Amino acid sequence: MFVNLTEVLTNEDRVVSMQTEAQLREVSVGGELHSVLASSPVNFVFTNTGKGRARIEGNAEFVFSAGCDRCLKPVEERMDVCFTREVWAPDMAADPSVYEEQPFMDGFQLDVEDLLISEIVTSWPMKILCKPDCKGICPICGTDLNTGTCKCDTFVPDPRMAAIKDIFEADKEV
Ligand SMILES: [Zn+2]
Ligand SMILES: [Zn+2]
Repeated sequence: MFVNLTEVLTNEDRVVSMQTEAQLREVSVGGELHSVLASSPVNFVFTNTGKGRARIEGNAEFVFSAGCDRCLKPVEERMDVCFTREVWAPDMAADPSVYEEQPFMDGFQLDVEDLLISEIVTSWPMKILCKPDCKGICPICGTDLNTGTCKCDTFVPDPRMAAIKDIFEADKEV
């Protein structure tokens, strides 16, 4: 949805607060699609900060569907998105490169979903786990090591220990 920021961008010291529903169904992060399971309304405060410029402050809460990075179990990932962005009215910035940093603006219009998506992608966690100590799945047979054990040999010998073992074995042969 679009929010018209003409009033805030063109009136000095103008402050406008509003609440809106985000029309977000899913987000794509690193090529993976995550559905939005729940979302709060988005709270916005738009503040004029000078001729043709404004500050956007906003926050919202989302719950996304994701998979545990270790065991692939479905996880509900909760996220508080909180942001502050400076925007310029069209043709008002001395340095035109600022417009590249506001791809969520279309003239005087703010594209709410575009802005939210860019904030969600930047604050997406590096790792998502079903629980902090998830043991993951066996890389050989696929057993979920949280609920069972398997007989696969996943032991990787330490090369230094292997060298000591060689010395002992050489001794035995004498
Ligand atoms: Zn897990
Ligand atoms: Zn196994």
